[in-house]
Amino acid sequence: SAITNHLPTAELQALDAAHHMHPFTTGNELAERGARVITRAEGVYLTDSEGNEILDGMAGLWCVNIGYGRHELADVAARQMRELPYYNTFFMTTHAPVIALAKEIASLAPSHLNQVFFAGSGSEANDTNIRMVRTYWAMKGKPSKSIIISRKNAYHGSSVGSGSLGGMTPMHEQGGLPIPDIHHIDQPYWWAEGGDATPEDFGLARAQDLEKAILAMGEDRVAAFIAEPIQGAGGVIIPPATYWPEIQRICDKYEILLIADEVICGFGRTGNWFGSETVGIKPDIMTIAKGLSSGYQPIGGSIVSDEVADVINSGEFNHGYTYSGHPVASAVALENLRILQEENVLGHVRDVAMPALHEVWHGLNDHPLVGETTIVGMMGSLALTPDKDSRAKFAMDAGTAGYMTRERCFANNLIMRHVYDRMVISPPLVITPEEITTLGKRARQALDEAY
Ligand code: PLP
Repeated sequence: SAITNHLPTAELQALDAAHHMHPFTTGNELAERGARVITRAEGVYLTDSEGNEILDGMAGLWCVNIGYGRHELADVAARQMRELPYYNTFFMTTHAPVIALAKEIASLAPSHLNQVFFAGSGSEANDTNIRMVRTYWAMKGKPSKSIIISRKNAYHGSSVGSGSLGGMTPMHEQGGLPIPDIHHIDQPYWWAEGGDATPEDFGLARAQDLEKAILAMGEDRVAAFIAEPIQGAGGVIIPPATYWPEIQRICDKYEILLIADEVICGFGRTGNWFGSETVGIKPDIMTIAKGLSSGYQPIGGSIVSDEVADVINSGEFNHGYTYSGHPVASAVALENLRILQEENVLGHVRDVAMPALHEVWHGLNDHPLVGETTIVGMMGSLALTPDKDSRAKFAMDAGTAGYMTRERCFANNLIMRHVYDRMVISPPLVITPEEITTLGKRARQALDEAY
């Protein structure tokens, strides 16, 4: 851009380290090595300040579902900025872009979810959910139903509320998380935690942990259960098939609201519009963000069931963000949804990209460093291990092998992320079979070099 791209890379990196505090980054490493400077992007490829073309196997942060460089979204944003760059949706005002977007989301969502509360991000939307479910029960005359059950190693965002919902220990160790009345149960991560149990038995047992927690705390105390249909940031943990039906049964039995955090799974990532369809659940609330706008504008929200919305709407919900239903973000998200539908991106995923990616991904299973490969739709992961058969851990610190592999991916112009010693992949949904072949070759090369 005209702002800084003309500066030499080293100068940009020094300025960056001097003045810019990065999320989830060690400051010393930033100062020593400098961040990779991304200058532009097209399709599934990023270009950095050194001219490298990097295949983005993560679609940014699991969000650029339609790929980079779609000028239609830029045109819509520019038009909307000229016409109405900002107005809020507080205090009895509204505008056309947010109305159209809410209607469109309701038409794509399961038929019992028809109202959207907008936010600027997934974290904000999950903060909304905490307050909404507690308010719902209070308005129904059951204020003691305030505990929200979540899972260890879940990711629901980084704000105080959503970070508390999440089950990431390193996050809980900083800044006083979790807030009160959030309870975490174990995750359905069979490969690492299943021991000798079959995946089916293990999935059932981990779901029944929810029932045990509800009975221990009292069903009159529990407001909701929140989970990602498939854990993303925790390492693409795909639960055994027995898990979700049992969770649904338990939520129904004890009148616990079910919140599906669809921030990653939503808008095609799992091969359906929502991950809830893929795993066969009927949530009361769905959290959305990321793929809603393919990351072209920051926007998130909660899609709310008629039952919950009717109760909340019968009073005043004292909650909202300056950017709830931002007109430019809404217009861009709407255009993104138009492209997803008119270009049949889900059809491309199901018929072309998914089969090709699954073949390439499972093809990595023969590598000596790879313990398992697992994938659903367009999100996959592999476990790094020094010994496949025993599912052993490395002698070095957890995450070191993953970090080394990620660095070798970088060196081979592929972006893959690591979660401790799991490598994860989540490319733009529009990726072609040829690009998937390139992804597979670069991933194998990186594994060879990391070994
Ligand atoms: N929920 C899930 C499942 C996520 O993966 C994320 C982000 O990765 C969030 C919530 C938080 O979203 P945001 O970073 O937009 O606040």
